[in-house]
Amino acid sequence: RFAATPRGPEDAILGITVAYNNDTNPKKINLGVGAYRDDAGLPVVLEAVRQAEHNVLQRGLDMEYLPVAGSHTFVQRAIWLAYGDRIIHERHNRFAALQTLSGTGACRMAGELLTRFLDYGQRTTKPLVLLPNPSWANHKPIFTDAGCDVASYAYYNPATRALDIDACLSSLHDAPNGSVVLLHACAHNPTGVDPTPEQWAAISNVVMDKGHLPLFDMAYQGFTSGDMDVDAASVRLFADDGHRILLAQSFSKNFGLYGQRVGCLSVMTDSQNEADAINSQLKIIARPMYSNPPIAGVRLVEEILNCDQLQRLWRDEMKGMARRIMSMRSMLRDELVQLGSQHNWDHIVHQHGMFCFSGLTEHQVQQLRERFSVYLTANGRISMAGVTSENVPYLANAIHEVTRN
Ligand code: PMP
Repeated sequence: RFAATPRGPEDAILGITVAYNNDTNPKKINLGVGAYRDDAGLPVVLEAVRQAEHNVLQRGLDMEYLPVAGSHTFVQRAIWLAYGDRIIHERHNRFAALQTLSGTGACRMAGELLTRFLDYGQRTTKPLVLLPNPSWANHKPIFTDAGCDVASYAYYNPATRALDIDACLSSLHDAPNGSVVLLHACAHNPTGVDPTPEQWAAISNVVMDKGHLPLFDMAYQGFTSGDMDVDAASVRLFADDGHRILLAQSFSKNFGLYGQRVGCLSVMTDSQNEADAINSQLKIIARPMYSNPPIAGVRLVEEILNCDQLQRLWRDEMKGMARRIMSMRSMLRDELVQLGSQHNWDHIVHQHGMFCFSGLTEHQVQQLRERFSVYLTANGRISMAGVTSENVPYLANAIHEVTRN
């Protein structure tokens, strides 16, 4: 019955790891996948997570099902991490939220909710979700598969390797009223380019004027500045400006819980009634898809956030990850300068978070791979987490060699 199934293409990012694993060059470097690595290039389990794991094990808990919406405690702690004490205190009964299969699942649930209930009873077309150009490669399929129309708004300017704020504001202005605008809360993937506070304020204004609905994807809270609260400033600004907000949170990176699939979708609504109705529908959407979310990862997050000592340790470790990436940015730029590169590499240090949008062309990326066994995505995105003090001279030299005129 499936004999005619056509073979589909490999996922571009995951395919890089496959090619990297097959490479026998001992100097090979994987800068493809966005997962944190320590200075020895190894995956990291945070000490706070290890201690939480120990505490949870000691308690000998059962492994019963969570409710459809997941752990209520976890969900409350998740939205508190994003919005902070004051906003949660002011509006605690206006949030609808559920635990999701990490950030991907949170985005997908957002898409499903939009398709079914955005402007319920009044809409005749699919909801339109606007993505920054460029955005995380999975956004488009997520929202398309959920039944939304997807278009893009101007964001990155390759010439300046920075945000094109004027083009961004005017394309948000020119978009149909009432669109859904996806915003990366911080540490934009793939560009590493975040708006300044003033630029965020301008974006908030145009989103408000046009009656757009902001949908924040927050997959890297902590990775821009090292501080969870500083990195949540964009979401909090929008809340203070009076927006209703959809927020997709991932705890893959900042807790290092990638494979545990820990995430949250929340909707800031106008009233408790609206929140209750949305909560009821989120459960109806989740139930036939996966029934209820996994329990192991959220227990670790709860354990950390419910204990002052573990929370302090985790925040310090989060800061440490962000700082290591920042220092790799400086080292890479400095090495390129020392090698006498004729190009300006300042954007490596000006961009934020896990990624550097290097400006390397597809051909140069291919050269890096073929001549130096350095693997990155074809769009020139470098996962800075894969850079270490040991491999940075080799990497800088490789980049220098492929960018000589
Ligand atoms: N959003 C963005 C922008 C991402 O980069 C990622 C991870 N690559 C995610 C969401 C979701 O990741 P996860 O499902 O692992 O939480």
